[in-house]
Amino acid sequence: MKKFLPVFLILIFLTSCKAAKTSDSFSAMNTFMTVSVYAPAKKGKVLCKKIHSRIDELEAVLSTTLLESDVHKLNNKKQLDFPVNKDLLTLLDFSREINKQTFGAFNPALYPVIREWGFTTGNYKIPDSSRLETLLANTDFSKIIFDENKVLLEFGMELDFGAVGKGYACDQAIEILKSNGVQSALLYFGGNIQTLGTKPDGSLWRVGIKNPWNNDSAVSLKVESKAVVTSGGYERFFELDGKRYIHIFDPKTGRPSQNDLESVTIVCESGTYADALSTALFVMGKEKAVEWWKTHQNFDFVLLTKERALVYSCGLEKIIEPLIDFSYIERIDF
Ligand code: AMP
Ligand code: MG
Repeated sequence: MKKFLPVFLILIFLTSCKAAKTSDSFSAMNTFMTVSVYAPAKKGKVLCKKIHSRIDELEAVLSTTLLESDVHKLNNKKQLDFPVNKDLLTLLDFSREINKQTFGAFNPALYPVIREWGFTTGNYKIPDSSRLETLLANTDFSKIIFDENKVLLEFGMELDFGAVGKGYACDQAIEILKSNGVQSALLYFGGNIQTLGTKPDGSLWRVGIKNPWNNDSAVSLKVESKAVVTSGGYERFFELDGKRYIHIFDPKTGRPSQNDLESVTIVCESGTYADALSTALFVMGKEKAVEWWKTHQNFDFVLLTKERALVYSCGLEKIIEPLIDFSYIERIDF
């Protein structure tokens, strides 16, 4: 018996080192999140906990509704003093750049308009044009003054990072996993999916894009170390007199975006970039979204259109699989 003991101990040691799946699910940032980590069980548990608390920390900074959050304070007082929270500063910097690059289609300063329609409270209404005009006058993101010492908003301005916060949270989670040597993980944060590496067996992750017309998947993508982020009008909306008003807004009109798209999915390494672009390209509509991709080319996209078409960028050619019947399928080349 004695001579088997070392073998037995080695076996226990090896089993505890083997990559097992550890999952954690929780609600944060107004959505349901699931983290699946492939690592030795004990390490997996610790990292899931770390990610959960990092996301709680981000929510405590970025939430528009938590009274003590930095964004809530900023929206109320129109200023934040030294030291400005690092995550907030990163997102302000990033948002200013993407706001500029997308010609205003991505605009976290649209919050007063979105709230007026009732999207934060659920008391939905259609504001009259003059009210919208007044509110729109205070949504110019480029007017925000900020550095590491202060943030200043003009009178009437308010921010909401709802279109980019989950993507940023995913990137932060991936950073925690990478810096702890994890090579395989899958994150589901509402419409945001992010993968680290491949599955433990070396095969690609198979990720579904929601079918806007039914409750299944319309498209599947096989990916490795990519964020796959979808913005869709079906996610949140209200209906009045047979008309649908969705939660993604056109910053030019101050009204829910109305175009030829049902959903936009962005595929690239950065969850933050994918999240901001999924919202921005949704606002642009098919033609402008395709044009924008052609001038930037640092991501891939899948558009599902109102006429039930599937339009995707050529980088996805080998990894995309339609799962439903489309009216037509179009591949966009450079
Ligand atoms: P997403 O689901 O990532 O497309 O984000 C949509 C959320 O971002 C909405 O619920 C709004 O809070 C906010 N939002 C809506 N329209 C815009 C826009 N054009 N730019 C930035 N944020 C927006
Ligand atoms: Mg987004």
